[in-house]
Amino acid sequence: MPTMGALHEGHLSLVRAARQEKKSVIVSIFVNPTQFGPTEDYSRYPRQLDQDLSLCLAEGVDAVFCPNPEEMYPLGTVSVNVRGVSERWEGQFRPGHFSGVATVVAKLFIMVSPSAAYFGLKDFQQCAVVQALVRDMGFPIELRLLETVRESDGLALSSRNTYLSPKAREAAPQIYREISCLAQQLRCYSGRQSDLVNEAKLQLERSGFEVDYLVVVDGETLEPTESFVPGSRILVCARLDGVRLLDNVGF
Ligand code: AMP
Repeated sequence: MPTMGALHEGHLSLVRAARQEKKSVIVSIFVNPTQFGPTEDYSRYPRQLDQDLSLCLAEGVDAVFCPNPEEMYPLGTVSVNVRGVSERWEGQFRPGHFSGVATVVAKLFIMVSPSAAYFGLKDFQQCAVVQALVRDMGFPIELRLLETVRESDGLALSSRNTYLSPKAREAAPQIYREISCLAQQLRCYSGRQSDLVNEAKLQLERSGFEVDYLVVVDGETLEPTESFVPGSRILVCARLDGVRLLDNVGF
């Protein structure tokens, strides 16, 4: 299970699933510099290794791998690019991000050689990128993609939620409310989908969010689609006080 640490219940849900399904569980904790852009939060990303190690111990994790950047990138000259699914949405707003993700995941797969790897659907596009990586590179690894763990008010757990001011934290659950409501409306709507999508986006903007994207996509290609059908996904990224919050829901 690859992670960047600052572990929360979302990460732990993956650990627990892996504990149930597999003989042994290895968690990696590595704040991967290559997936952060030059103006992003690499240096201030939350780091709490001691607490993370205690959590892993308490969950019965068999080994924790905490490499440093020099170990992971001795020359730093090689990168893995996944075309197609990595290009839109997060790929557009965070150039180079998915190349960093694909590179570190490929390296971790080679170093650890797991029979299975666990990822959270919270990062839906990341899951698509890793699926493409595994298929195209022929990694003999079973991918387990698990549902998003949420706070009781619906906000998807994320290590970055700690950046939110109390006021922003209070407003943040509206993202999930909007996309859940949109999903419900789209399931039984025969008019123009774009009207409802634009309305949901406007609602968020009226509440002070800056919306990077709110789209209905094909869950495999991640291309925009005109109909919300089984397999479709609503993806959203909206910012509050500069904190980017990602979420998604399925049909
Ligand atoms: P990160 O530490 O943010 O790189 O996340 C490590 C793994 O945990 C990724 O596969 C994430 O998708 C997953 N993850 C993060 N937040 C959640 C959540 N709220 N629910 C389920 N999985 C999550």
